[in-house]
Amino acid sequence: MLDEILIKDLECFGYHGVNPEEKTLGHKFLISILMRGDFSKSMETDSCFDTVDYSAVCEEVTALVAGESLDLIETLADRIAHLLLTKYEIVKSVRVEVQKPWAPVRFPMKTVSVTIDRGWHRVYVGVGSNLGDSEKNIREAVAMIGESDRVRNVKLSGLISTKPYGVKDQPEFLNGAVSFETFLQPRELLRFLQDIELKLKRERKEHWGPRTIDLDILFYDDQVITEPDLRIPHPEISKRDFVLKPLCELDQYLIHPVYRKQVSQLLEELQASPAYEKTVE
Ligand code: ATP
Ligand code: CA
Ligand code: CA
Repeated sequence: MLDEILIKDLECFGYHGVNPEEKTLGHKFLISILMRGDFSKSMETDSCFDTVDYSAVCEEVTALVAGESLDLIETLADRIAHLLLTKYEIVKSVRVEVQKPWAPVRFPMKTVSVTIDRGWHRVYVGVGSNLGDSEKNIREAVAMIGESDRVRNVKLSGLISTKPYGVKDQPEFLNGAVSFETFLQPRELLRFLQDIELKLKRERKEHWGPRTIDLDILFYDDQVITEPDLRIPHPEISKRDFVLKPLCELDQYLIHPVYRKQVSQLLEELQASPAYEKTVE
């Protein structure tokens, strides 16, 4: 259980809204911020260096709200969450509420507000390539992941040559895995990775066919998502040695949240199974 610091109804002035009057005259916003982290050290030292200085937070949020005019309070909430998560390392997650009192709509209403929850999540992504200079493609993709200011602590496993999986009649693959922390939401992360695939000229032709770069979300914390276009953990992890081996290298104690087994155990079980199709040495 993490500790919490709550700033309630900070009054700020800004120029956000879709109506022109809102952008010129501006108006008041009420911002509430819940910051979660382990602040226990500050309780021993009684020092504000071991916690979050909430007066500094108020100052920075007030300046942000007074700055660039945005159309949506959703965007404003996201900017505030982004600021807090990147500026204060001790803050693991935040809840931000932006209230707009007396929003200019033709209905009798007191306030409208948006609340978002954002935090740092540990993610593992499978990387593969078998067209062009595969190593260069993979390293470029990993560099592009690391360039995002919503990502930190990027680590790439060793890269391994693998025989093609599924469609056999194609060049060998180079595969690996990358781990990082991000506060992108799962769908935002999928769009972010698909954008990198597009930039590296991935053409979506044949399923399991040749590609310059393939980025698959393997794990997102221990979340389980089963939607038609997004499945986490990636459903093929336990059948693929070229995914399990790099995962073991990054973190052999990593636990698959559905099978509740360590990736190292999944690899052993795969290698011992009669249907095992070895793709890496
Ligand atoms: P496989 O997923 O079996 O490795 P693939 O990587 O060749 O096959 P793609 O053509 O790259 O498959 O992706 C097809 C679709 O898979 C994407 O459009 C995406 O919406 C969906 N998808 C579902 N779950 C995931 C995930 N965890 N990571 C990436 N894409 C996913
Ligand atoms: Ca894939
Ligand atoms: Ca894919």
